[in-house]
Amino acid sequence: MKVHDKYDVFIGLEIHIHLNTESKMFCSCKANYGDEPNMNVCPVCLGYPGTLPRLNEKAMELGYLVAKSLGCKIAEKTSFARKNYFYPDMPKNYQISQFEEPVGVEGLVEAEFGISESRKIRIHDVHLEEDAGKMIHAGDITLLDYNRAGYPLLEIVTEPDLRSGEETESFLRDFQRLVRYLGVSDANMDEGSMKCDANVSLNHPGKGLGIKVELKNMNSPRFVRLALNHEIARHAGILDAGGSLVQETRLWNENRDITEIMRRKEAADDYRYFPEPDMPSFVPDNDFLARVEAGLVELPLDKKRRLQTEYSLTPEQAEFIHDDAATAVFFEESVKAGADAQNAASWLSSDIQKLLNRSSLSLDASPLDARRFSTLLGLIKEGQISGKIAKKVLEKIFSDNLDPQDIVDKEGWLQISNPEELATIIKKVMMENPDVVSAVKAGDMRQKGFLIGQVMRNSDGKAAPELSGSILDKLLGTNA
Ligand code: ADP
Ligand code: ZN
Ligand code: MG
Repeated sequence: MKVHDKYDVFIGLEIHIHLNTESKMFCSCKANYGDEPNMNVCPVCLGYPGTLPRLNEKAMELGYLVAKSLGCKIAEKTSFARKNYFYPDMPKNYQISQFEEPVGVEGLVEAEFGISESRKIRIHDVHLEEDAGKMIHAGDITLLDYNRAGYPLLEIVTEPDLRSGEETESFLRDFQRLVRYLGVSDANMDEGSMKCDANVSLNHPGKGLGIKVELKNMNSPRFVRLALNHEIARHAGILDAGGSLVQETRLWNENRDITEIMRRKEAADDYRYFPEPDMPSFVPDNDFLARVEAGLVELPLDKKRRLQTEYSLTPEQAEFIHDDAATAVFFEESVKAGADAQNAASWLSSDIQKLLNRSSLSLDASPLDARRFSTLLGLIKEGQISGKIAKKVLEKIFSDNLDPQDIVDKEGWLQISNPEELATIIKKVMMENPDVVSAVKAGDMRQKGFLIGQVMRNSDGKAAPELSGSILDKLLGTNA
């Protein structure tokens, strides 16, 4: 991966994800913010005086799951703190967060950058907090929707170990994949279920961290890369000119492809963190820890490597198959059911992907399952159908929800491999194309492909291609 040629670059991330829980973090309101505004609210998440928060243990469990998967030391005791700020989106005027005792600290995750490079990225901490409401500015007035207030959030803070926009984009995609594997979050940056603030600084080589700028408002990993690379170039320009940076927060403007100043940076003291008096510390018991343990999955990078060694997939194939956990499960089930791994991988990444896109279905929800898929590949392998017919069968599986064998029988798509039947078709084609036949006989072998093409056409694509070729050779008196 590209590294700045003149300065050391330091990038650290603060990633927020919405946790997939039924209810909010500290009350029983539905965790559903797409509903009609202010439908999912109660005195607790509206911050009425005298109400008390109650912990959603599921959110805690998902927090531990992520912390563990990121190689963190997980907390034997975790507690909450009040982060004070005054703003209309936060009805209590403080956010319940974690400060001194987060669910996990000192994590380490392996990240692959490109095909050959891999490095460990340190995680500073993983902590739980609640989301704020949404403010909608409409002309002179501002509307408030508190459906999102109290929604469980998990924040992951990395150490400044990333070195370029490209590395950061790749790290974020890996992270999204991980939390989707774990099923803890959809982690969609454009839908708001994941956010990422990127901190970046540059310094002369060997001088350590520089003065950081925090970047916000990027709603895809790609925009994070663009914003960082823009900012890195801006910092380099200032340093080149002998200037110095100011610690500040800047917003990515995706319409202009630049960053713009938002505010000079606040310090942690401004928030006057103090322990949340209404929420006892949480000490996980054995049952809780067993549930966390049971939720762990094979890490995406481990899966990618295993797919390569166990099934001899290329790095590109493994990349595709492991990208989505359901695809990987489907692939391995298909191989277990008898499918050839190479064929399965290439069908999955091409024809099947196309059909899924066209029907906007996910693999789990599609009429194709591992058994049907391996049967289909088996039919090709046994010479019962050609690859071309197989594509038509696949489309029929999607449109009619039938088994491949039934489709082949019903449509009469069985490959013609009876030599006499083939010879009849081939003779007909030869009779209809006397000029081509003479040309081939005179040595123009390229024209043979045309004749085979005609045989296919005359048989609705059902003629066994190799057998047809050798019969044609015999009839033409040519070979190979
Ligand atoms: P703050 O107190 O301003 O919130 P933190 O030390 O808590 O700063 O770090 C917040 C994020 O910024 C972390 O992801 C960290 O890795 C990153 N970070 C901190 N200092 C720098 C720096 N000098 N350059 C780049 N990133 C930094
Ligand atoms: Zn509520
Ligand atoms: Mg901080």
